[in-house]
Parts: sequence; C-alpha cells; structure tokens
Amino acid sequence: MKRKILVIYTGGTIGMMKNRETGSLEPFPFDDIYTHLPMLHLIDAKVDFDVMQPLIDSSDTNHEFWVKLATHIYNKYDNYDGFVVLHGTDTMAYTASALCFLLENLGKPVILTGSQLPLGVMRTDGRENILNSIEIAADTKDGQPCVPEVCIYFENSLYRGNRAYKDNAEHFNAFTSSNYPKLAEVGVFIKYNRQYIRRQPTEKLILHTKMDDNIAILKLYPGITDKAVSTLFSTPKLRAVIMETFGAGNAPSNAKFLNLLKEAVNKGIIIVNVTQCKGGGAVELGKYATSLELRNLGIVSGHDITTEAAVSKLMYLLGEGLTNEDVKKWMEIPLRGEITID
Ligand code: ASP
Repeated sequence: MKRKILVIYTGGTIGMMKNRETGSLEPFPFDDIYTHLPMLHLIDAKVDFDVMQPLIDSSDTNHEFWVKLATHIYNKYDNYDGFVVLHGTDTMAYTASALCFLLENLGKPVILTGSQLPLGVMRTDGRENILNSIEIAADTKDGQPCVPEVCIYFENSLYRGNRAYKDNAEHFNAFTSSNYPKLAEVGVFIKYNRQYIRRQPTEKLILHTKMDDNIAILKLYPGITDKAVSTLFSTPKLRAVIMETFGAGNAPSNAKFLNLLKEAVNKGIIIVNVTQCKGGGAVELGKYATSLELRNLGIVSGHDITTEAAVSKLMYLLGEGLTNEDVKKWMEIPLRGEITID
C-alpha cells in the first residue's frame, strides 16, 4: 500500500511563478502541479494537494491562522500518513512551534517547508525542498513514520519545528537550530539522527484550539528607558511578557528597572526570561548577580527556548485557562521537546 501524503499550500514565495508576459509573481497552479513538477511521479507515495484560502504572506500569520491550520491537519489526520505544509519562510518557525503545541500526541510527520525562490522560476530551491519533504513525510522504519513530529525542512536539513529559526534572508540555507541537533541530513542518503527524534506517542492525537494573544515581547538593550518599559507593561489586558535578556539571562540591575518588573509581576503579569543569544546554552537565573534578582522577583526561566517557540507556548498555555502559577510551571517544563533541562 502506498503511503498517502497531503501537501497544504498556505502562501509564501514557494507557491509563486513568474508570469512570462508581465514578469510579475502570481500564484502557482497547484491543480496542474504534475506538469510543472514531473519528478513527483517518481515519489513512491500518493500525494494530494490542498490550497488554503485565503493565501497569505507569512508576515500575516497569527494565532487564528495557526488554529485553522492545526484544525485542517486534525480533520485530515486519519486519511493521510504525513503532511507537508508549504509556508512563507519569514514566520515559518512561529507556525511550526504553534503546530507543535496545538497538536498534542502527534504521531505522524508534519513538515513545513518553503523556498527563497518561487517554485515557478528556473533556479528555485523550492523543487528540492518540496520533493525531499514529501519523501521524508512518507518515510518509514519498521512500519512506523521516521519523524512523528512537526519539523522544518530546508536546504538538505531537517530541524525540530520548535527549535529552528530563520537566520538568513538570502541564502538557500535559511534556517538553523542552535540549541538542538538536526533531525536528519539529506545527501545521497537521508540520514536520520534517530536519538534526537521524538518517539511515537501512545496516546491519541488531541487538537487544542484556544490561544490567548495577550502577550508582548520586551527586547532589552543598554540604556532602555523606564518609560519604554512601563509603557509596554501598561498594555491593556496584557497577561505575559517574553523578556529578551542578555547572555545567560542578565538584565539591568538598577532599582528603577527592577521595580517596574516587580510592579508588573504583582499585577499578575507573567514574565519569561529568554536570552538574546541564539546558541550556546540557556538562561541560568542566579549565575550572575544581575539575574539572581530576577529569580527572586518570580520571573520564569525560558531555559534555551527560542523566542519563536516561547510566543506560541505562552499563547497555548494561557489559552488553556490555567492559573498563572501553572502557566509559569509549564513554561519551565519541556512539553514538545522545545527546551532542554539538565
Ligand atoms: N514574505 C514571504 C513569506 O514569508 C517570504 C517567503 O516565502 O520566503 O511569506
């Protein structure tokens, strides 16, 4: 029996082609994909295509789009062995992270990919990305899918979805994952790093559909003013803030700044400390005196989470209607392999 893969196009550069007359980019005709991508016939799987409406540039994604996409996958889950999501690269890492949280106990591959050049231009990187993603989504070992998790595939590398981020706007190699090894590398063979891939869950898939977007990001910089900080904390309905700190989680130690944090925590705003350093470790509250105070104020450690994953993890936990104490507790515990705790 051939494996069945559903490819879902959501928007972004990959699904574009150049109009020969006008020279402008327009949507790629997915109904006619086998004519444009004849290599698809060689894949040993049955591949169906869905085009989501409306198509969007990925800069326009939000929590409603994530829930819609997760629901689409959930509704088709029993009919397919794996999913490939074609998505704009700009916010692909946010969407991949959101899908990780919304699809609990995922036991089939959901692989997001895109491209730097449209599928309908000669030198496109989209062709390899889409073909390899479909092949990985259909791949099995001992009858089980090789990667039963949400991933990003780009330029020969497969990453855990909630660990990857876009770090280059021009290179074909646009993504990286500083704090977690690649799940697979594609050359002549597809080499899976099986010890880093999540195991098949024993429980049934659960779809979560509630996310609370009353969060904000506070990026610290030397000389940040009290006014800027207090304005952010006075945002109406604000429930949580991702504070992007320096190095191992350090922040200014002046009393005025710390007081603003204390006031926010006392108002019930959850503050999660995520480092601006992309790799090489994690937030370690208390390693330096400048972060010990943050721990004393009840600020949560994001450990080595990416900001991209912290955004959807917070929206998901807040949407679950948990108490603040529970949201704080779960932020420090890996739910889908998004953080490493020693
Ligand atoms: N702006 C596009 C998007 O993210 C870029 C891309 O697809 O790479 O939707």
